[in-house]
Amino acid sequence: MWRCVSRGLRIPSKSSTSADSIRRLFSTQSNAGSPSYTVVDHTYDAVVVGAGGAGLRAAIGLSEHGFNTACITKLFPTRSHTVAAQGGINAALGNMSEDDWRWHMYDTVKGSDWLGDQDAIQYMCREAPKAVIELENYGLPFSRTEDGKIYQRAFGGQSLNFGKGGQAYRCACAADRTGHALLHTLYGQAMKHNTQFFVEYFALDLIMGNDGSCQGVVALNMEDGTLHRFRAASTILATGGYGRAYFSATSAHTCTGDGNAMVARAGLPLEDLEFVQFHPTGIYGAGCLITEGSRGEGGILRNSEGERFMERYAPTAKDLASRDVVSRSMTMEIREGRGVGPLKDHIYLHLNHLPPEVLKERLPGISETAAIFAGVDVTKEPIPVLPTVHYNMGGIPTNHHGEVVTIKGDNPDAVIPGLFAAGEAACASVHGANRLGANSLLDIVVFGRACANRVAEIQRPGEKQKPLEKDAGENTIAWLDKLRNSNGSLPTSKIRLNMQRVMQNNAAVFRTQETLEEGCQLIDKAWESFHDVKLKDRSLIWNSDLIETIELENLLINACVTMHSAEARKESRGAHAREDFTKRDDENWMKHTLGYWENEKVRLEYRPVHMNTLDDEVESFPPKARVY
Ligand SMILES: Cc1cc2nc3c(=O)[nH]c(=O)nc-3n(C[C@H](O)[C@H](O)[C@H](O)COP(=O)(O)OP(=O)(O)OC[C@H]3O[C@@H](n4cnc5c(N)ncnc54)[C@H](O)[C@@H]3O)c2cc1C
Repeated sequence: MWRCVSRGLRIPSKSSTSADSIRRLFSTQSNAGSPSYTVVDHTYDAVVVGAGGAGLRAAIGLSEHGFNTACITKLFPTRSHTVAAQGGINAALGNMSEDDWRWHMYDTVKGSDWLGDQDAIQYMCREAPKAVIELENYGLPFSRTEDGKIYQRAFGGQSLNFGKGGQAYRCACAADRTGHALLHTLYGQAMKHNTQFFVEYFALDLIMGNDGSCQGVVALNMEDGTLHRFRAASTILATGGYGRAYFSATSAHTCTGDGNAMVARAGLPLEDLEFVQFHPTGIYGAGCLITEGSRGEGGILRNSEGERFMERYAPTAKDLASRDVVSRSMTMEIREGRGVGPLKDHIYLHLNHLPPEVLKERLPGISETAAIFAGVDVTKEPIPVLPTVHYNMGGIPTNHHGEVVTIKGDNPDAVIPGLFAAGEAACASVHGANRLGANSLLDIVVFGRACANRVAEIQRPGEKQKPLEKDAGENTIAWLDKLRNSNGSLPTSKIRLNMQRVMQNNAAVFRTQETLEEGCQLIDKAWESFHDVKLKDRSLIWNSDLIETIELENLLINACVTMHSAEARKESRGAHAREDFTKRDDENWMKHTLGYWENEKVRLEYRPVHMNTLDDEVESFPPKARVY
């Protein structure tokens, strides 16, 4: 077992309560010649892991509430994947027509295929207008209407009047660079407060107390190899998704599910990982995203016969049906021989009928992306596109306050004291089995803020904290040391490629018992092969070989839980489409999967979906067939 090997490392028995006490540790056995580990202790009221939209919004809120806050991030904050978001952020502002947060809530529940928790969805949709106005006040440069209001575009799955009033224009945007504008705006705000940033620090593991509470994290400073124990009464994980478990993904190479894996290693569950979103329009071959906003502005998908085939699959919403529906329809067209290109293996997205001024003003970013990555002039030619992995609906289970929950005895919603999660790493669960476009930028700001607000309700700034356990972090250091000295026969890149291929082939848009069973065997084997990994770089100074190997372990844990959760779920719901169980089965499967990583194997449990709302401002939406 990776985690039990001790290299004779010793951590001081009493951690310092003063910030930044430094101790030097020596490796007393084996690995002659390997460097010693320096451990630095810090104490904060709260520590946020991640500086994407979710992490920054949480950090801003915590600092505003007067908490001494650390924000640890493996990337410079403005390089987080949030920066790549294009289309926008949903809120029932009603700038283009009458709108109501209840209609937004209905669309989100329906989009989730009734797997979303309705209390959390109510919370998010009701908070949405406030959250977007707050971003405007922070200085986010939104696109504007003629009369100066925030411009809102059409987006997939958004309707008026509980699905009866036609397409809603609910997605606020800054052209097609909304994430860029949002992340830079939040970083600017964070700079106004005294959040302490630890940039290019890689969080390795949670520090869990013997009482089951979370007491902080252990992180590696990638620049100099020092190790850091952050003790905190509240730890907020905002580490983003794990799209890179797949071969073709729109996510950045850094989306490796580190926070999810930290939670799994701590013996806590991951929720609903089988639900992986394929975005209909990744550029064929390159995988780069072409925003759904391009269809929101009037873009159309066509097959090799020039047919606008979405009219057949979704007569009302057409090209703006929700993402799972469009991705499946495209896959069907390709399978039935109506794909485009020499291999008939992709689809065309046409924007060339739109006025060039609209493309220039509303979609400048994707016009450039299409030119660079597909060699296409969007004013004249269609863009070759293919469904591409884009988003993880599943993640660390939380309630609508952002508190991490698990099953304890009869309680399916038991809170883990001191541990929070927000953003793509978390599963609140507002997206259920399928996320609607422009609901994630909303999720990250609403739940980042919710975490900070919750901490303010249950904790006081400067509150005294329990000392860490004597051996806090010791296992993590032993694990890191073992990884760093791995001397097997397989390079990290080879194992990673194998994992990505298995996920791409066996947990795809359409799934069967056969592909999933084979997938379980193959992904378990990929995990086993990780024991034979070989690192070439043994240093502690900017060791990218080591970092990529840790990220690979994290991806593998996410991949194993995803595959096993998918194999077990014998129904079709949202993004989980099975050819052998084509119907949604509410009687047996309207429940959240909880996947545990125990003794290097996946164990599954289930917890109920919250069908209740928070109060009587809205009634819950009972399940019905999902048509667009
Ligand atoms: C190309 C693209 C376009 C998108 N467009 C939209 C859109 O238009 N609208 C929408 O609603 N959603 C969109 N999404 C989804 C949305 O952007 C993401 O889900 C969301 O931005 C995730 O934010 P986050 O804060 O949870 O994580 P991220 O922005 O991914 O940030 C993760 C943070 O965690 C840190 N981190 C991770 N691991 C560690 C570790 N081990 N140690 C320390 N730090 C760590 C990273 O440094 C980073 O700061 C898009 C996604 C993609 C990929």
